[in-house]
Amino acid sequence: MKSFHCSHCQNLVFFENTQCVHCGHRLAYSPSREAMVAIDTGPASGAVTDQAQAKDATHASGAGSTARPALRLCRNYVEQAVCNWAIDAGDDHELCVSCRLTHVIPPLDDPQMVVLWHRAETAKRRLVVSLLALGLPVLERTAGARDGIRFEFKQPQPGESVLTGHHEGTITLNLLEADDVLRERLRAHFEEPYRTVLGHLRHESGHYYWDRLVRDSMRLGGFRRLFGDESLDYKNALIHHYQHGPRDDWSEGYISAYASVHPWEDWAETWAHYLHMVDSLETARACGLSLGPRRTDEPALRPNTSGEDLMRSSFDALIDSWFPVTYLLNNLSRGLGLPDPYPFLLNATVIDKLRFVHDTIVTARGGLGPGTARKAA
Ligand SMILES: [Zn+2]
Ligand SMILES: [Zn+2]
Ligand SMILES: [Zn+2]
Repeated sequence: MKSFHCSHCQNLVFFENTQCVHCGHRLAYSPSREAMVAIDTGPASGAVTDQAQAKDATHASGAGSTARPALRLCRNYVEQAVCNWAIDAGDDHELCVSCRLTHVIPPLDDPQMVVLWHRAETAKRRLVVSLLALGLPVLERTAGARDGIRFEFKQPQPGESVLTGHHEGTITLNLLEADDVLRERLRAHFEEPYRTVLGHLRHESGHYYWDRLVRDSMRLGGFRRLFGDESLDYKNALIHHYQHGPRDDWSEGYISAYASVHPWEDWAETWAHYLHMVDSLETARACGLSLGPRRTDEPALRPNTSGEDLMRSSFDALIDSWFPVTYLLNNLSRGLGLPDPYPFLLNATVIDKLRFVHDTIVTARGGLGPGTARKAA
């Protein structure tokens, strides 16, 4: 992800911030500007004037003129404090482009559920902004847009189980996954090295984009050669996994034990992993991080001085940059007495699968590859 600065005072801020700790301005992320905008709240509920626009308007038409609100706050920002995004003036929707994808939310009279909903939306905004940055279609699934995507954040009722999963464009998240204690218990129970809300959402988005980018495309043959035949009985594969555990040799060809369940799960796990990788690499490059190895044959990370789009790098350049970043990530964490944030090993088979995901995304965004010109829209 990019790094962000308060548009008023240029202080570094996080993507999740709602206020600048330096100048005190309220902040909102504008997806169309890809920026954190400092805002003044206007008299009308949710109407805002961003600092840059107010200055321009005063400059253009004399002191005392009132700038037309260029942005509005998302209704979930104003009423529920579960969002920090803004909406462009020309967009009539009450919800931002991320919140409008959520079609089921928990009961708002339960404060604990609102906390969990907030965490789920926060992770989802990170997913949405990554997907948009990759140039992937992110459209709300409605009656008129059957190939869109929608989210359901569900609280299990007594005696009911909510399965986190994807079905025909609907991604369901059991909101209890946003409860740190419960999720950690499940992670330990299933002997998983990594389990996060963002990881779940990235994984499920993989199933959605498989339907859109692979299922009916020329890429299906290549997919089967690498990931296997997805027409294998999916339900039986899941039952077998939960009864007998993963196959013993999973680490030889899969990114995780769960990936070895079925080719669809292998794809979704690999897709999620690819998103982990490009998001973290983009952050490293946006912060000007540069890593020089001691030996010349070790991979290095060079700072992105040209402002080059990460996806214009070759896959080999991406993966070479990734190894030193993972070493740094884990070592910094160990220095703080924390577990490795990146508990994965990438072997040649897994790297080939990641390359396939990369090529699928490059193909989807209109043949934009290294050295080719970006096509209009
Ligand atoms: Zn500021
Ligand atoms: Zn929102
Ligand atoms: Zn899955």
